[in-house]
Amino acid sequence: MPALPQLGFDEAWQTEFASLEAGLKPYRISVEHGAQYALLGEEGHVWGELSGLVRRAAKKRLQRPAVGDWVAARPSETGAPARIEALLARRSQFLRLSPRNKTRPQIVAANVDVVLIVSSANLDFNLRRLERYLVTVYSAGAQPVLVLNKIDLTEEPENYRQQLETIAGDTPIALVSAKQELGLDELTQHLSPGRTLALVGSSGVGKSRMSNWILGEDRQEVGEIRLEDDKGRHTTTHRELFVVDHQKRQGILVDTPGMRELSLWSTEEGLKQAFAEIYQLEDECRFGDCTHQNEPGCAVRPVVDEARIHSFNALREEVVAQQELQASLRKR
Ligand code: GDP
Ligand code: ZN
Repeated sequence: MPALPQLGFDEAWQTEFASLEAGLKPYRISVEHGAQYALLGEEGHVWGELSGLVRRAAKKRLQRPAVGDWVAARPSETGAPARIEALLARRSQFLRLSPRNKTRPQIVAANVDVVLIVSSANLDFNLRRLERYLVTVYSAGAQPVLVLNKIDLTEEPENYRQQLETIAGDTPIALVSAKQELGLDELTQHLSPGRTLALVGSSGVGKSRMSNWILGEDRQEVGEIRLEDDKGRHTTTHRELFVVDHQKRQGILVDTPGMRELSLWSTEEGLKQAFAEIYQLEDECRFGDCTHQNEPGCAVRPVVDEARIHSFNALREEVVAQQELQASLRKR
């Protein structure tokens, strides 16, 4: 059984938890399964359900507990699900626009510290798509790492590195081959006990293979959890939060289907971090609303690649449109 610190429970959460009423235990959410949650705590997995109070707070969607969240729950003595009485403060949150309701963001995962943005050394390689991922990861409040996989397929990995450097800023870069297990140790430095990692990237870039390497075993064997309900029935479900404890690798891996999509939420703060150099330079542009395309006295255009400027403008428009939409919803 993992100890709580191995699951990421640290002093700050301990302090918050200690201020709650007696009789509760801390758990981390490992799967959301309809109204039920698989909770991972000191005794392994138990089922949990939201208390009325938490359920009402959850109506404001973002307060709905999600994979990665820390909660305080009251264990049951009768075999019924534990009752989730409180949601502890989040460090980061990944939001997306739900396919059904395009106006309200929905929580996909919480408390992820590091996100590997995975791409691969082939024809699909696309800096503009990676910029978009950078914005969403920074928007969530997590630390991104740009990981180029499949370097076994190219003669010139350094070529890719140079391209990545044009968008990376302070973001770390790692060149790896999950297939040949090249460079994967570079990823190990982003893992540490209690630190939570996730992977994003297009389908086929090698995320599953990389996750399996990080976990050090085949996820088919480790991915299922069986839980017994109060009637003694067993349910098997696919877990989405894994404790990594293999050789020198220790940490936590979150892998939810929603994290893999590109429709994650962006904020202006995320945009600022992903395009830090443009934000710095544009203070010097002659016009305050310069779009860095053909205005005279532009400080950005002479320095920044045209395609990157274009990408920035498009992403900024999306963020502004989203902000206006949210503001108008609040007024109603
Ligand atoms: P995912 O969709 O991102 O999870 O990608 P997968 O992990 O399923 O990998 C997609 C395909 O790429 C599979 O056929 C993998 O075997 C292959 N693949 C993964 N990593 C590498 C690599 O480093 N080099 C090469 N050549 N192929 C890889
Ligand atoms: Zn300008």
